Amino acid sequence: MILSTYIECPACSTAIILRVGISRARQKFTVACPECRSSIRGDTIPDGSEHLDFNIPGVTVLDPEVEDRDWRTVSTYGDLPIAPSGEFSSFLFATSVLGEKFATYRRCVAIVRDFEEKVDPLEHAYGFYLQGKWELLDSVVKRHFSKAWPDDPTILDRHTYLHRILSWLQSAVEPAGQHVQAKREIWQKAGASEERFAKLAFSVISNPGFSVVNRRVSDQFFSLLRDGEEWVSALAIVHLRAAGKSIPAEWRIPPGRIGTLRDAYRQNFEVSCQMLPVVIRMQNMCEGRDPEVIRDPAISGGWAPRSLRPQELVNNMNQFSKVNAATKEAYLNRNSKLRSFWNSAFSRDVRNSIAHAEFDYVMHDGILEYKGRRVPFHVFVEALIKQIALLIFWLDLCKLCKIYGSRWDPATGSFLGLD
Ligand SMILES: [Zn+2]
Repeated sequence: MILSTYIECPACSTAIILRVGISRARQKFTVACPECRSSIRGDTIPDGSEHLDFNIPGVTVLDPEVEDRDWRTVSTYGDLPIAPSGEFSSFLFATSVLGEKFATYRRCVAIVRDFEEKVDPLEHAYGFYLQGKWELLDSVVKRHFSKAWPDDPTILDRHTYLHRILSWLQSAVEPAGQHVQAKREIWQKAGASEERFAKLAFSVISNPGFSVVNRRVSDQFFSLLRDGEEWVSALAIVHLRAAGKSIPAEWRIPPGRIGTLRDAYRQNFEVSCQMLPVVIRMQNMCEGRDPEVIRDPAISGGWAPRSLRPQELVNNMNQFSKVNAATKEAYLNRNSKLRSFWNSAFSRDVRNSIAHAEFDYVMHDGILEYKGRRVPFHVFVEALIKQIALLIFWLDLCKLCKIYGSRWDPATGSFLGLD
């Protein structure tokens, strides 16, 4: 169903016929003014009967019977990229481009929208989880997420439930499955010796910085979930790429609040770098070293990424914490799955241009231009969506450390088992 209205661009006063394809009662949308490219945001609201109305704050609605204007038309199909102008609607265009993947894609959009709608209770529940306020966690979960939540949940239930539902969202936004492979790779390190990992996890979670980082990762995650309307329209592109198909050059995603997204990108990179020491300590442990030791001075050569110059190498975690991001990343070289997941979330090209502090872009025809570099806007948003999956991965890794760390008894120096 298409809902139309006649409005005036709040920036340049162009008269616009706005057409929005509707797939649910409350639908957020962003369109660009066809004349000046300013973003116009709004949503649809049920008007009390079976009809829907527009809610577009700050925008004047025009009467086409009265106004003799030079009308421009702009159409959007809510969650979808904007199709090329022509006889095809965005919906039909997306159906034909995604082919048999269209149904899966629509299911995944519905999952994202469900999470968006439940973002408040989810954030409350996660906050209680972080603070170990178990009874409050139980009540929020029972009220909003799982009617079957047991009256007497185990501590393992409480650690795993939220992460289990977050993994549905993770699969919806990262259909290529890089997060699944990275998880297998990193979780194997914990499984190789549960006892040694429990000891390591205990020292990781005992560090006061750990809960700060865990909190920062979750803050980033929830703020991106709240900004869903800025990135959901790129999800069709994410799914198309995961299916190995090429992206139609005509597809555009509505330009969002680029500054906000750019800030989110940089914050995601910062917090992800803060999670790397956990991975490197697990690596050290697995290779039989003290978790704090990267290069054993007694062994010449030791573990060193080949891409680094001798003066960039570090010997221990204290030195690691002080090096720059590029050096830190290089130490992921023995975790190839996580490394490629990381690379697709933080492509250096995007990072060095768009995510840069002095980013002063020009955008036209869906291309961001910065100092001669040209990056399609959707490539930037795709990376951001990949980062959502990566943030969930870090939350999951924090959980793993908390489960095992809480089962290490420092008094006797023994692992208490998980049951
Ligand atoms: Zn305008």
